[in-house]
Amino acid sequence: MHIVCAQVLFFNKSRAEQLKCMYNTGMKMESIGIIISIRPFNERDAVAHIFTRDYGVMAGMLRGAVCARRGRPMVGMVGTVSWNARLDSQLGVFHWEMRSNPAAAVMFSRDGVMIINSMFALINTLLPERAAYTTLYDETINAIAKITNAPATTVYLEWEISLLRELGYALELSHCSGCGRHDNLNFLSPRTGRAVCDECAAPYMNRVYKLPLNLAITARFLANAATAQGTEMPAARTMLKI
Ligand SMILES: [Zn+2]
Repeated sequence: MHIVCAQVLFFNKSRAEQLKCMYNTGMKMESIGIIISIRPFNERDAVAHIFTRDYGVMAGMLRGAVCARRGRPMVGMVGTVSWNARLDSQLGVFHWEMRSNPAAAVMFSRDGVMIINSMFALINTLLPERAAYTTLYDETINAIAKITNAPATTVYLEWEISLLRELGYALELSHCSGCGRHDNLNFLSPRTGRAVCDECAAPYMNRVYKLPLNLAITARFLANAATAQGTEMPAARTMLKI
C-alpha cells in the first residue's frame, strides 16, 4: 500500500513538475485551428479537440463553452487558439477566438455532414496529439471549402489519400510498381499501395485491388493504419455512404 501511494505521489509530482515547468517557462502554444470534437465537461465548460495548423491535434478545456450565449464554439469552426498548461488541471486550457465557420455551409447537405464527421473522426482517431501535420491541416480546410462546389466524393477521396500519405501509406498511382510503365494501370497492390499494370497483375488477380481508386479501397488502407495503432476505424467512417 505504501509503495502504491508512493508511486501515485511520484507520478502526480512528476506530472505537476512537468506542467509547472511548462507553466514557468511560459509554455503557450498559439496557432490557428479547427474544432474537430467538443463535449460538455460540466454545465459551463467543454472539453475540445482542436486540429491546429502548427501543433496538430490538441486537447483542452474550453471555459464557458457550454453556457456561451453568443459565439458558442462548435465543431467545424476555425479560429485562433492558444493553449496553456495549468497547474491545477490535467488538461490544458484553450483560449479560443472564432474566425470563420467553413463547415456551416456544408452542414446543410447530408453528404457534407457525413464527410465532415468522417474527416474529424479519422483525424481524432489516427493522428497523434501534439504532432504537427501542417500540409494535412491546409488540405482539410481546402477540402471543406470545396465540398459544396465540387463533387463531394472526389473531394473526400482526395482528402483520404492525403491522410493516408501522412500516416505513411502513400499511394503511388503514376506508374507500375512491377515494370514502370505509365499506361494500363488498372490494379493496386494491397501490400505496397502502388499501381500495377494489367500484365504484372495477371498472376495475382485474386489479390490486387481493381482501380480506379474508391472509398472502399482507401477504407482498407485506413483500417490497416488503425490496426497498426491498436485502434479501430471510427463509426463515422465505417458508416460513411456518399
Ligand atoms: Zn507492370
